[in-house]
Amino acid sequence: MKFTVAIDGPAAAGKGTISRAVARAFGFAHLDTGLLYRATGRKLLETGLQPEEAAKSVTPADLERDGLRTQAVAELASRVATIPEVRAALVAFQRDFAAREGGAVLDGRDIGTVICPDAEVKLFVTASPECRAERRWKELTASGQAADYAGVLDEVRKRDARDTERADAPLRPAKGAHLIDTTEMDIDQAVDAAVAIVRKALETKG
Ligand code: C5P
Repeated sequence: MKFTVAIDGPAAAGKGTISRAVARAFGFAHLDTGLLYRATGRKLLETGLQPEEAAKSVTPADLERDGLRTQAVAELASRVATIPEVRAALVAFQRDFAAREGGAVLDGRDIGTVICPDAEVKLFVTASPECRAERRWKELTASGQAADYAGVLDEVRKRDARDTERADAPLRPAKGAHLIDTTEMDIDQAVDAAVAIVRKALETKG
């Protein structure tokens, strides 16, 4: 059975946690597509390749490497993500993943709008910038990285602006997407809401 769940939204809205939980609940494979952009950014730095070549050279093993989740790599990722050739070079990897048997969850910024517009379920997960900055700040400090809240909020706003204002595949809810605003929700509530939507769609598909 092919069944695709496309989950989009800004940084630190809870997409990753929701995506992993949905994949676990239904036994689907999960791809965090942000890692493709992070790995591309890092390849650029490490190899001196052109952006498009760097994107084409990304392998599944590159997505498993340590150090992709830092603020510096996130910043680099959101810059390379504005380059149309980079986005185009990463399309096939994502569509192949989505088309696998047994179901797939992909999370990112343009999954429901560009990569998988025919996904069986599309979710747009969001939260206020202040709430997302606070969550990100807690994550960073818990993992031992130095961060101040004002700086993190500034980064969140800058990344939002870059992601929503870029010409190619800007971040926005896909047609038919279910909106989940997690500002006032704890993670269990957000996961329950997503799982309920997916379950209903699975039942409808039969
Ligand atoms: O989701 P994550 O924070 O890891 O993504 C890093 C950056 O990669 C984002 O800020 C965004 O610019 C870019 N990205 C994208 N399209 C995706 C996933 C991530 O442009 N599908």
